[in-house]
Amino acid sequence: MSAPEQPAAWSPAPHRFPQAGLPTQVRVYEVGPRDGLQAETEVIPTAAKVEFIERLVAAGVGTVELTSFVSPRWIPQLADAEQLMAQVSLPDEVRAVVLVPNLRGLDRAIAAGATEVAVFVSATEEFAKRNLNTTIAGAVSAAVEVATAARAAGLPVRGYISMCFGDPWEGSVPVERVADLARELLDGGCTSLSLGDTIGVATPGHVRALLAAVQARGVDVDQVAMHFHDTYGQALANVYAALTAGVTEFDSAAGGLGRCPYAKGATGNLATEDLVWMLHGLGIETGIDLNSLADASAWMADRIGHASPSRVVTALLSSRRSASHQT
Ligand code: MG
Repeated sequence: MSAPEQPAAWSPAPHRFPQAGLPTQVRVYEVGPRDGLQAETEVIPTAAKVEFIERLVAAGVGTVELTSFVSPRWIPQLADAEQLMAQVSLPDEVRAVVLVPNLRGLDRAIAAGATEVAVFVSATEEFAKRNLNTTIAGAVSAAVEVATAARAAGLPVRGYISMCFGDPWEGSVPVERVADLARELLDGGCTSLSLGDTIGVATPGHVRALLAAVQARGVDVDQVAMHFHDTYGQALANVYAALTAGVTEFDSAAGGLGRCPYAKGATGNLATEDLVWMLHGLGIETGIDLNSLADASAWMADRIGHASPSRVVTALLSSRRSASHQT
């Protein structure tokens, strides 16, 4: 048997089949430059990060988390936050966000020209203790302190909640606890939330149950983004479940950047290309050009020294390669 024949110039794209009851537009919140790169061991030069961000924006990414103003001792990969902010050039309509852990980080972010900040808390005590060196309550009061100061400075504030579905020490996380934290963060000054499945254990029924619990605490679905990890292959099913509940903002990382620190060798962040392929197939607008995005991810993959784990990036690049070999 010979190798299967392929068309000479094949440019695969999702076939559009819009579904009643789903949003017609979704905001893709790109976390690759921050959440993705901070999990990568190869330290990337500032100029390459800047070029990566500008390539993402050129591909149509309209919302991007640029970096984090944490102590350089915590995360050496993001020690260049000031330099990056000074060098990156973005169109006015791009929503650019930076992560800040405390008031010192907020001061640095504002001095660097940040226009939106993100704060973070944990839904489990063990993660709060091990990763944030505090308690759930301690993390909430620190986040509220930062959110209050940021709002006084006129900045919107995104509140991340980590470990919303389960964590490696405590197992399944009660949805009511996450709902209470969501309420506390909004009451404390956050203007939007991102509910994170940090270890990728969520399944679609759990997603619907969590969103119902959050809405029962008076949180509008428009204030909530979902942040899924693809560790167990559930991320897109979870996105679909959240779409049916009316969620219109999803976090993802170009090329699936960012390994999973809780399962060595496993995938972390949902790849933006995988997300966008499904959304476009559902007739949902994102403003993103998949081929340009995959090129940006491939470009960064060369710099971090390992291939993108994204199925869509892999398929798009290999179909292009096999097409070019025939011409
Ligand atoms: Mg993540």
